[in-house]
Amino acid sequence: MEIRATTKIYGIFGHPVSHSLSPVMHNSAFSTLGLDCVYVAFDIAPEEIGQAAQSIRTLGIKGINITIPHKESIIPHLDGIAPDAELTGAVNTVKNDAGKLSGYNTDVGGFLKAVEEDLGIKPEGASVLLIGAGGAARAVMSAFCMNGAERICIANRTKDKALKLASEFGKQFKKIKIEPVELDDRSAIKARLGDADILVNSTSAAMEGKAAIDLPLESLKESAAVYDLVYKPRETPLVKEARRLGHRASGGLGMLLYQGALSFEIWTGMEAPVDVMRKAIE
Ligand code: NAP
Repeated sequence: MEIRATTKIYGIFGHPVSHSLSPVMHNSAFSTLGLDCVYVAFDIAPEEIGQAAQSIRTLGIKGINITIPHKESIIPHLDGIAPDAELTGAVNTVKNDAGKLSGYNTDVGGFLKAVEEDLGIKPEGASVLLIGAGGAARAVMSAFCMNGAERICIANRTKDKALKLASEFGKQFKKIKIEPVELDDRSAIKARLGDADILVNSTSAAMEGKAAIDLPLESLKESAAVYDLVYKPRETPLVKEARRLGHRASGGLGMLLYQGALSFEIWTGMEAPVDVMRKAIE
């Protein structure tokens, strides 16, 4: 890759951001397609997000991914946001069109593509048990609610957050049965595991070095699939146990890949070289 005066700049705003796989994924895509573009990581402190957003315009940066902790706080600094980002309340992709900044949420589409490809799950009519009620859970809720899931149970350690998420989405999607429960409520969890077509973990438990959530997976019905948004380690304890019990199960690398591919397509208008991008993050 040769950086020239004409090279277009893309990147990611996060804090911290040095662990991000997005630079290697996008730079491999740019170089494979011979595009005069580069992707870099910017560590932006939370209080600097407004200035950082303005710098996209000032420096003529073409596109930016947004990660923790800026996915919500970037929104007031944009000129407009897409419906999926609006529903989710979070933006992970910004496109700069001659100084006009538009926000998107490709975690939603990335999640849908990954569960279909990795597990053969489509959201229409699905019964879902979603563990967690943080930012990633909001993207999962948007994906299932916008695409006709039948029933979603949100189980979270802090019940208030599950209640808030259930009430917010419940108001907009009245036909979907959305129920909050506390993660510690063992009997409710067992019952919901028995109903679920898909169990989704959106908590950060079991990220490298942390203890996994203890779930009675033997209560899952035989045909149920399991998706863990966590992708480091590749086979999380949840995925390992679900596979041991004979279920289709996948970690979150596919979601990471497809959210990146969708960002790439929004920025460039070109089809993303998904195989190359997958190899890069693997
Ligand atoms: P977040 O907003 O900080 O939310 C964290 C969630 O995890 C909360 O529901 C929290 O519960 C729960 N939690 C944390 N530790 C827990 C524990 N020990 N036991 C039970 N619950 C626990 O984080 P986020 O943005 O939603 O991200 C969550 C995870 O998803 C991260 O690991 C992130 O890497 C992953 N992710 C992956 C992708 C992908 O592309 N694959 C995309 C986005 C996010 P409380 O409410 O009780 O605190």
